[in-house]
Amino acid sequence: MVRDFLLAEHIAEPADILAPEPATDEDILRVHTREWVDKVQHGKLSASERMLLEIPYSQAAVRGFWLAAGGSILAAQCALKDGFGINIGGGFHHAFPGHGEGFCMIHDVAVAIRRLQADAAMRKALVVDTDVHQGNGTAAIFAGDAGVFTVSLHQENNYPEPKPPSDLDVNLDDGTGDEEYLDLLSKALADSFGRFAPEILFYIGGADPYREDQLGGLWLSMRGLQERDALVFAEARRRGLAVAVAFAGGYARKVEDTVRIHVNTVIAAREAAAARVSRANP
Ligand SMILES: [Zn+2]
Repeated sequence: MVRDFLLAEHIAEPADILAPEPATDEDILRVHTREWVDKVQHGKLSASERMLLEIPYSQAAVRGFWLAAGGSILAAQCALKDGFGINIGGGFHHAFPGHGEGFCMIHDVAVAIRRLQADAAMRKALVVDTDVHQGNGTAAIFAGDAGVFTVSLHQENNYPEPKPPSDLDVNLDDGTGDEEYLDLLSKALADSFGRFAPEILFYIGGADPYREDQLGGLWLSMRGLQERDALVFAEARRRGLAVAVAFAGGYARKVEDTVRIHVNTVIAAREAAAARVSRANP
């Protein structure tokens, strides 16, 4: 639906939309254990592992996760080349090296970061996660990796529990609205850039902080979410950073609202890129 909307409204042209290859097993194994990869590829998940995943297991789902990881790799490579790249999907930030949970089997963004590290394409990555749920998989995977700084702004009183510490966690109260949210995001970005100088920013821009979301308890408006995206992209642009985006969660009562929020993220990224080009070529 996001792709169709982007094309119908000429926000993107067909040539802007690239089809990724699925990630290779070598790519996946830089993040996930051999045991977990074998289990998901061969349908050997236990009942409790299936329950934790919270989505029906199928071979189609496995192919989808490998493709999502390939999409985040491609988005990251586009970001390094063109300034930004967007996976119109992905953002499966609840996947851990040895298990999946919360709809996430494979951590596509972590796979992309590990791939860029392996290719020596960059050394320092910042992950900014604004999904309403804390990025527990991201925090666990990159704990102790001095090359990756992880930031998560999320509703404190929500899944996951426990929350393994990110490098910077902002725990938000139930019902937090636009103004307070944007103020705390701005401070979190300033704090992060004060402590860490990345070469690329991975933005996990969940649609679920929206006040009409069924799984979230924050109170952001559609406009507030647009301002959130614009703030992240503007801070990246000021520092000349490449930005790779993944969409993550979104469960609005009306699916059209979730699509609109994701489309708005693409528009904000494009506007930031255009501003960068016009500044470079006055
Ligand atoms: Zn979420």
